[in-house]
Amino acid sequence: MKAGALVKTTLIDYPGHIASVVFCQGCPWRCPFCHNPELVLPECMEIPIPEDVVFRELVNQKESVDAVVLSGGEILTQRDVAIWVERIHAMGLKVKIDTNGYYPDRMMSLFEKARPDYVAMDIKTDAAGYDKLVGKKGAFGRVRESISILASSGVDHEFRTTLIEGYHLPSRLLRLFELVPNTSRYYLQAFRPASVSVGDWSGYEATSPEYIRLAERLAKDFGLCVKIRNL
Ligand code: SF4
Repeated sequence: MKAGALVKTTLIDYPGHIASVVFCQGCPWRCPFCHNPELVLPECMEIPIPEDVVFRELVNQKESVDAVVLSGGEILTQRDVAIWVERIHAMGLKVKIDTNGYYPDRMMSLFEKARPDYVAMDIKTDAAGYDKLVGKKGAFGRVRESISILASSGVDHEFRTTLIEGYHLPSRLLRLFELVPNTSRYYLQAFRPASVSVGDWSGYEATSPEYIRLAERLAKDFGLCVKIRNL
């Protein structure tokens, strides 16, 4: 695994757990609003943190956390995720995976080899807007497959959308909600502009509390198990 950053302790990345977070380098997408160019754009990446250094830190944190979040970038670009999940489980810690859903086959294979304890998958926009937003032709077909795999996997999970006021207009939101399984947990989280991002997304302001509540109401009316995160 190419680890780009490590956060020793977080209370917010894995619901109900105190976790360390390992951020991997590499992502096939180029979402313009992405806050992490240093994990996405090869020209912005630092030399990866050696694996033994990451695991030494995780061992040091073992008494202070009960879980590790493997995030990105896109974690399933890393071919040895299953080995990491096994190693972390062997330390007596739970594992959460964050994914964008671009690799349905790898998700399935991970579930067969080393099941994570929790998976959070983004649903970024509606079907028609997907490939354009993330800058990758064919992205939506793979996302749709991953939604179906995750929803029926038996792995504890959530789907989530970072709500961008001005982009996720109500008409788009209603089309997006069609993609969210109504038996899965679904979170809406507010977009916050960053000082640096992967592309130019400067026309969009932080999402207001009023708009996120409106989106929550629409999602509830749509029959989704929705909650707002970190308003
Ligand atoms: S926001 Fe988009 S570009 Fe950034 S890591 Fe996630 S999927 Fe990749």
